Amino acid sequence: MKDVRGFLIDLDGVLYVGDKAIKGARESIDLIRDRNYTFRFVSNTTRKCRNTIAEQLSSMGFDIPVEYIFTPPLAAVACLRNAGKRHCYLLTTGDVYRDFEQECFCDTGTMIDFVIIGDAGDKLTYDSLNTAFRHLMNGADLIALEKDRYWMAPGGLFLSAGPFVQALEFATGKTATIVGKPSKTFFELALRDMGLRADQVAMIGDDILTDIGGARTMGMQGILVRTGKYRKDAVDHAVVKPDCIIDSIAQLRDIL
Ligand SMILES: [Mg+2]
Repeated sequence: MKDVRGFLIDLDGVLYVGDKAIKGARESIDLIRDRNYTFRFVSNTTRKCRNTIAEQLSSMGFDIPVEYIFTPPLAAVACLRNAGKRHCYLLTTGDVYRDFEQECFCDTGTMIDFVIIGDAGDKLTYDSLNTAFRHLMNGADLIALEKDRYWMAPGGLFLSAGPFVQALEFATGKTATIVGKPSKTFFELALRDMGLRADQVAMIGDDILTDIGGARTMGMQGILVRTGKYRKDAVDHAVVKPDCIIDSIAQLRDIL
């Protein structure tokens, strides 16, 4: 890849699916490290806090420092800090709240500044969505950790946060601030940490819209992998075209 000095790499669907590492993924990370490329991981995963993601990567055999992992809750916390507001209603699942607890009051009181919604799985109920809806109608702003349509797990495709974000937008007439991929501020957070410009970086992902579309909008190159949620028809129908498509991240060695 000409002029590329660094990589932004998606996690889910690129390094692993479920709790299984994709064959050859570890070797590819070792290879880019050995060849002195800079790299960071940008994931729209919003079901786990950053520390848990790092631990799971380690249990799959990846040697990745926690500071290299960028997830939407980090960007949301930066957003709250900028706004100087701290009262949140979290519509999330698992231990994602741990990414917020240093900075925010995640309470159920009546004065809420931000409703923050991620891929909350079973926590998305009529009641939890309706509580979020009421906070928004009372003046809270909406932050979407991501607005993906779906993701791939070993059992099949799963609805992501996007459809529910859109439901809240539809009901309230408000527009969510998206802090995960493909938002510019999210990519910038990782680029700044790498010390590279967008035109020096290639994004590797399995989502044609958030990974490849987001990268191209930023001026990065986009490498699509045929693992994870990759679907040929979604790529054929998308306006955005990847710079390169590879069968899996294991093939990275062929294009470096
Ligand atoms: Mg992915």
